[in-house]
Amino acid sequence: MTNIEHYAVFGSPIKHSKSPRIHKLFAEQTQQALVYDDQEVPAEQFQSAVSDFFEQGGKGLNCTLPLKELAWSFADIKTERAELSKAVNTLALQADGSILGDNTDGVGLLTDLINNHQVKLSNTHVLILGAGGASRGIILPILEQNVASLVIANRTIDKAINLANEFTHKGTITGCGFDDLANQQFDLIINATSSSLSNDLPPLPENILRKNGVCYDLAYGNEPTTFVKWGKKNQASKSLDGLGMLVEQAAEAFFIWRGVRPNTKDVIALLNAERGKVI
Ligand code: NDP
Repeated sequence: MTNIEHYAVFGSPIKHSKSPRIHKLFAEQTQQALVYDDQEVPAEQFQSAVSDFFEQGGKGLNCTLPLKELAWSFADIKTERAELSKAVNTLALQADGSILGDNTDGVGLLTDLINNHQVKLSNTHVLILGAGGASRGIILPILEQNVASLVIANRTIDKAINLANEFTHKGTITGCGFDDLANQQFDLIINATSSSLSNDLPPLPENILRKNGVCYDLAYGNEPTTFVKWGKKNQASKSLDGLGMLVEQAAEAFFIWRGVRPNTKDVIALLNAERGKVI
């Protein structure tokens, strides 16, 4: 008899999530017997919902907005990249019953930028907008690409400064508010705020994007996000949304759980075709 194992994504809001579809495609492609569903879990219910899930035989979870810091606290053991980011998007039941916490957002973003879109990061000046859970997960992998500098700008300025201070031993990184960005220029601007979810945009000065610069919005949708549109209007050489990152971070989680690496290019192409865009 086939033993079908249970995985899920927890978050709030969650109904927009494409993760169940992505993991279903991975499971079909790699012939793995599993189910993966979504569950609306607000922060105050996180502890009981995760405990129930694993007690009822669940094998692995993804945690998304606003649960990544809570998932970090929940995990019994953590990978180094999760430990440093203080945010966990993947929980995996281990053979001894403990729960491993990992963060696959950074590797997902870099695989999409570097492998899928041929964006070079070494010696570039990079700006991350936002200082929430997603921002935490991508800082270290970006610094590890030997960027010339990394600036974190956030609406709540203290959060950006404190976050940057956690990583100063890993590279050239500073935190600031949006007003402090005047007269600065960047090769790559990553929107890790959730502003696109409300069709909003952080206030950005003119000429902040260098010639041939790249824009990347972690958010994604069936239509170009507000930030992707901003990038196009400001002559970005590429203005990308986070669908590729979503698939790549999911593939890394799938590998952690199942030990099998799915082919992401086919899945990205399919999801792009479904929203009417050819990459
Ligand atoms: P959090 O809730 O942890 O953080 C939200 C961040 O956005 C904070 O820095 C907050 O600023 C800022 N923010 C919210 N609204 C605005 C606004 N109107 N103007 C300016 N700043 C704003 O969310 P996450 O970090 O988990 O997620 C951020 C985004 O990244 C979401 O859109 C999410 O969907 C996306 N994401 C995509 C992934 C992918 O695979 N493609 C993976 C992970 C995340 P403040 O601190 O001042 O409140």
